[in-house]
Amino acid sequence: MAAQTTSRALTLCSRSPLRARELAKVVNSRMEFRSSLSNGSLASSSSREEAVIGVEEWQGWGTSSAIPAMVMEVVRNLKGLEEEMNSQMSFGGLGGKLKGSFKVQEDKKHRATYKALVDSEEKLQFFSARQIACRLLGSRGYLCQKCWLAKEDCMCSKVVPSMLWNGIRFWVYMHPKDFLRQNNTGKVLWQIFGLQAATLCLYGIHEHEEIMWDAFKLAGKSKVWWLYPNKNAPSKTVMDIVSCKSSGDLDLDQQTTNGKRPLHFILLDGTWNNSAAMFRRLKEQAELVWGEEGLPCISLAMLGASPMHRLRPQPSWDRTCTAAAATGLLAELHQLPEFSSFGLEEQAEAVEDGLETLLHALTARRLRMGRSITRKERHINNIC
Ligand SMILES: [Zn+2]
Repeated sequence: MAAQTTSRALTLCSRSPLRARELAKVVNSRMEFRSSLSNGSLASSSSREEAVIGVEEWQGWGTSSAIPAMVMEVVRNLKGLEEEMNSQMSFGGLGGKLKGSFKVQEDKKHRATYKALVDSEEKLQFFSARQIACRLLGSRGYLCQKCWLAKEDCMCSKVVPSMLWNGIRFWVYMHPKDFLRQNNTGKVLWQIFGLQAATLCLYGIHEHEEIMWDAFKLAGKSKVWWLYPNKNAPSKTVMDIVSCKSSGDLDLDQQTTNGKRPLHFILLDGTWNNSAAMFRRLKEQAELVWGEEGLPCISLAMLGASPMHRLRPQPSWDRTCTAAAATGLLAELHQLPEFSSFGLEEQAEAVEDGLETLLHALTARRLRMGRSITRKERHINNIC
C-alpha cells in the first residue's frame, strides 16, 4: 500500500508541466482564501497585482526558472487573506514566519488545505510552495537577493567569482526551510560559479525538480552522481567516477563535446533530518527513471569540517556543510590524473574563500547584535 502511494506520488511529478498549475488550482479552490476577492474593489485588485511576485524578483533570488505556479498561488491567497481580514501580514524573526492575528487565521486556512489534499505528492508540493512563498514575502526588502544576508551585512562585494570547469555541473537540492536562510552555504556555489554551473533545485517545487530531472535524463545515468554523508548508505568513491567511464569516453567528451555533457553532482542542502526525506525522494525518482539500482552515491575520503560549523551546530552534513562538500569533491577529483588539468584545486579554493567570507559576515553580524559568535566553545576546539 505504502509502495503504491509512493509510486503514484512520483508519477505525478513526472507528468506534464501543466500538473503544477492544475494542482495550484485545486489548492486555491480548497483554500477558499479568495472568497472575498470577487467583491473586491479596483483599488484592491491593483494593490494585489503589485504585491504578487514578478519573474525578475523571483529569479533575483538565485534561479533562472519560471515562477512556480503553486508558489504564485499561495502568494495570491496570502494577499487575498490580507484583504479579507483587512490587516497586513507581518513577519517576525528569520525564515518568513508570520506573526500576530494574521498568523492565527492563516494557520487555520493552510492546515485545512493541507488536510483536504489526499495525495502525498500534493501535500509535499503545497508544503514546499507555502514555505517558499512566506520566505519570499518575509524577506522582501530586508535580505540582499544575491547573498541572502540582511542588506547591512551584504557580502557580495567581497565574493570573487570563478569559472567552474565545464565538465562539472552542481545541483544544489535545497530544502524549502533552507531557502533564503542567511547561514545557508549552498548559495555560495552559484554566487561564485554562476547559476548554470551550480543550479538551485528546490525540494518539492515541481518546476525545479522537472528541470533537474530533464537534465539528468538527457545526461544519462553514468553522468549523474550524488553526495550523501550517510555512512550506512552503500557508497562509491571518486575513483568509481573514472572507472565508470572508459578512458575513450573521457577523451571523447573532452575533444568532441567540450564539456557539453558534464558530470552532474547533486548536493543535498538541508538539515540532517530534512536531508533524509530528500534522499528518499531522489532515490525513488532515480529508481523510476533508471530502475532498481538508483543513483550512485559518492562518499568523500577527505571531507573536512566546515568553518561554518562554528556558527551552525546542526549542519546538513556531519560536521561539514554543502559548500564544503563541493570543495571536498573538487579537491579529490583534482588528485585523479584524469581530472588534474582542469584547475579544480583553484576552483575548490574559490569556494573555500567564499565560505570564509560568509563566515566573517555572519560573525560580524552576531558580534554587532551582542550575541556569542559560537554557540558552544567545544565546537571550536574540535575544529581548529
Ligand atoms: Zn549581497
